[in-house]
Amino acid sequence: MNTVDLKNFSLDELEAFITGTGKERFRARQIFKWLYQKDARTFGEMTNLSREFRQELERTTFISDLEPEVVEHSADGTKKYLFRLSDGVTVESVLIPEEDRTTLCISSQVGCAMGCEFCLTGTFRLTRNLTTAEIVNQVCAVKRSDPVRNIVFMGMGEPLHNLDNVIRALKILTDPDGFQFSNRKVTVSTSGLVPQMRRLGEAVTVNLAVSLNATTDEVRGRIMPVNRTYPLAELLAACRAFPLPSRRWITVEYVMIRDLNDSLEDARRLVRLISTFPSKVNLIPFNEHDGCTFRTPTQDAIDRFHKYLLDKHVTVITRSSRGSDISAACGQLKGRLETADGARESDPQKRATHESGGICNG
Ligand code: SAH
Ligand code: SF4
Repeated sequence: MNTVDLKNFSLDELEAFITGTGKERFRARQIFKWLYQKDARTFGEMTNLSREFRQELERTTFISDLEPEVVEHSADGTKKYLFRLSDGVTVESVLIPEEDRTTLCISSQVGCAMGCEFCLTGTFRLTRNLTTAEIVNQVCAVKRSDPVRNIVFMGMGEPLHNLDNVIRALKILTDPDGFQFSNRKVTVSTSGLVPQMRRLGEAVTVNLAVSLNATTDEVRGRIMPVNRTYPLAELLAACRAFPLPSRRWITVEYVMIRDLNDSLEDARRLVRLISTFPSKVNLIPFNEHDGCTFRTPTQDAIDRFHKYLLDKHVTVITRSSRGSDISAACGQLKGRLETADGARESDPQKRATHESGGICNG
């Protein structure tokens, strides 16, 4: 059986692979363009390659693909795609249309190992990493039906916990011979894996979003176990050191949870914490779900917090919950469907493997 999936290669790697078979280096670029610019799904389509070469590729390699099993439309235009992978597990991508730009939120893992207390994905364990091909195939599949302007790694999983595949996927997304996304249009979100932030910055130029979510080590350590390994001081130092092109900023995500991190005192501390690097703050009112007893803040608390940041000249947006009628907000399309399929919520094993939703929570 062919085991070499061509979509698992960055262009460099594809060149090494192709020259390794004795073919010219430029053939790799041709194939790469077929895969990502023309969305070729068979070798037969690659008409600038000789018949013999195509047959050889057919024998030794394959082109993987994903098709959505379900697409759910929300009243506000948000669309959620559920993909079933070759081993039966599922992941989600969410398309969020906005006036002048359409953002696709993609997943990097099935489940997540980070265990953040407020996050549905984190309530469960990591099932597995996605391959490079599985990451880019989410984009291939959605682009067939919808134009995509921006890509955010804010779906299921911690992208920096699957760093090699995420870096490869980022290279494919931004390669002039690949998807051709400007690196300004691609954002990776992390819960704060400090050494991996450094490696990401060395490997590629992309936008970084950091899920800060609290302003003291005490609270952050309680809701985000990663903070016990990389506390605030180290995380903020990594933000300062992150190689940002000029006139760029780090997006600081702040999930607001009632009576936990929504006070003016928090707002004051937040302003101080982020003052040493260019940033924009995304306030995300906590999205309530069954897996967790936290509550969303009152509108007053959100407005007060937002206004405090504005008064301190911090660029801030409060994300409205999109797609809540299809659970895109804290997506349990996966959970809902598979629970209906017979996976009982009372069965912890099944919950762990089936109901690990939680995607693009704003
Ligand atoms: N693992 C990465 C990216 C995926 S999570 C990270 O943590 O950054 C994407 C965003 O959703 C994160 O900012 C996270 O803090 C937020 N989030 C998770 N659960 C949420 C919930 N229930 N309500 C609101 N935002 C949530
Ligand atoms: Fe994982 Fe991000 Fe959820 Fe934390 S917030 S559990 S890192 S997906």
